[in-house]
Amino acid sequence: MADKDDEPPFPDPQEISKRLSEFLKSNFGDQVSFSTMDGAENPFTPNDETGGETHDLRDDTVDVFDFDLLPREIKDHLDRFVIRQDEAKKALSIAVCDHYNHAKYLQRLERADPEEAAKVEFAKQNVIVVGPTGVGKTYLVKHIAELIGVPFVKADATKFSETGYVGADVDDLVRELVRKADGDVNLAEYGIVYIDEIDKIASASNSGGRDVSGRGVQTTLLKLMEETEVAVRNPQDMQSQMQAMFDMSRGGKPSRDTINTRHILFIVSGAFSGLEKIVERRLRQGAIGFGAEPSIATEDVALLQDSVGTQDFIEFGFEAEFIGRLPVRVVCDHLESGDLFDIMKHSEGSLIRQYEREFEAYGIQAQFADSALEKIADEAAEEKTGARGLMTVCERLFRQFKFELPGTPVTELVIDGELVADPAGALAQTLEKAGSVEDSRLIGEVSAFRRKFEEEHGCRLLFESGAINRLGELASEQGRSVLQLCEELFRDYKFGLSLIRQNTGQQSFTLPVAAIDDPDKYLSGLVVTSYQEEEDSSLNEDV
Ligand code: ADP
Repeated sequence: MADKDDEPPFPDPQEISKRLSEFLKSNFGDQVSFSTMDGAENPFTPNDETGGETHDLRDDTVDVFDFDLLPREIKDHLDRFVIRQDEAKKALSIAVCDHYNHAKYLQRLERADPEEAAKVEFAKQNVIVVGPTGVGKTYLVKHIAELIGVPFVKADATKFSETGYVGADVDDLVRELVRKADGDVNLAEYGIVYIDEIDKIASASNSGGRDVSGRGVQTTLLKLMEETEVAVRNPQDMQSQMQAMFDMSRGGKPSRDTINTRHILFIVSGAFSGLEKIVERRLRQGAIGFGAEPSIATEDVALLQDSVGTQDFIEFGFEAEFIGRLPVRVVCDHLESGDLFDIMKHSEGSLIRQYEREFEAYGIQAQFADSALEKIADEAAEEKTGARGLMTVCERLFRQFKFELPGTPVTELVIDGELVADPAGALAQTLEKAGSVEDSRLIGEVSAFRRKFEEEHGCRLLFESGAINRLGELASEQGRSVLQLCEELFRDYKFGLSLIRQNTGQQSFTLPVAAIDDPDKYLSGLVVTSYQEEEDSSLNEDV
């Protein structure tokens, strides 16, 4: 198995630097100069001897942030968005406060007394979160990072594979923090790295994990979690290397070379299926010989919450050193149907708000009744994917509504239990009731024309309910399809509407009965008005 340290696939950075320098010289002569950072041999490599210089760069900066939150305040904030997961919220809030209070303390001490600061010992409060998919693990971390104002990066441990790192290097996680911090390395050094599916890099055979590779990835991650310097620019990314070089050759301020991972908070998570069995076995074995029947929680989550320990994670397949760097253990609850109901009803980030906004964009007020939320929650719970099930169920449920309703006279949609039980029937009924358009097939035909028109000409046509009814009457009088009729009536609309769009930027047009009775006259009126509007606005600009 190739080790990426032994076998660099590209020339090393010094070599790249040398070759680029020669290339520039031979192509541009002395017009373009190639320079390196003051005091550093090479702009691409972290220079161990330039500790003083690195320090200067850091001292240029002001406080990275002024952290002054209490654990309770963080939890209160999380409560607005995340339903349940109380223990996880508390443990994360405390870990985050300890972490950033310490970082702040150290930052101040470093300025006042660097020697003293170097002596301070601190065990970083990295966190391991146990919980199935879709219960809010990522959501918690994302909201914490947002509240504190630090960059946050998420990755799956599975993408780090056995032979070197296919796809992405572990260091890329840290570089990504810099990108998320808009290039601010100082801020990135206080970011949060969140790695999901960490259970997949367990190495013990009983976990089903990949043996040797898992251990290798654990060791690499361990280095990051402890403290290491990561090059800001990927040595294999030619583009960013060249960019850095050009920036410097233009006399730009040298940017930081490396990111120190000391203050980056690591949160890892996974479903850890089977972990509860390990805990249970340990507890039972421990009790043998004492003659007493152990009192073991019967529910998996409670069992893990009460009793999971370092030994269990080691048994699961983690190296002791690795798990030792993750001192905060958190277990998330499963979400039952009632929780999913609460998520829709009470979470500020509820999917329901999103659906309301989406319908609102078409002028449709969507009102969700509790009877609908209950049914949606029940269906979603059956998916067994936590709150993700809600997205699946809602997408399936509302697809036809989102397709058929926009552009019709429907302005209100009551979503209740009946609608969830029979969406197709409810859709037909809604269309029938709306604006006295009685024939839902007619609406379907008009919609087909609208879609075609929009696809071909980029303009959106809407029809008032009276106009839809008139189209129906005309089509049946003439024995033609609505589509044929519309194509004839609105033959010149493509040209006329594009003129209007040029004049006013308008892209969506609602047609009344008058437009059906005399399409050309109606269009001329629109065009004339649009020229007047254009004149008015250019007059206003002149003033
Ligand atoms: P995972 O536990 O797999 O990391 P996520 O946090 O990514 O799951 O959850 C997916 C989405 O489901 C979130 O973006 C959020 O909208 C919703 N969600 C999940 N759990 C909760 C929860 N406990 N409270 C509110 N919303 C949740």
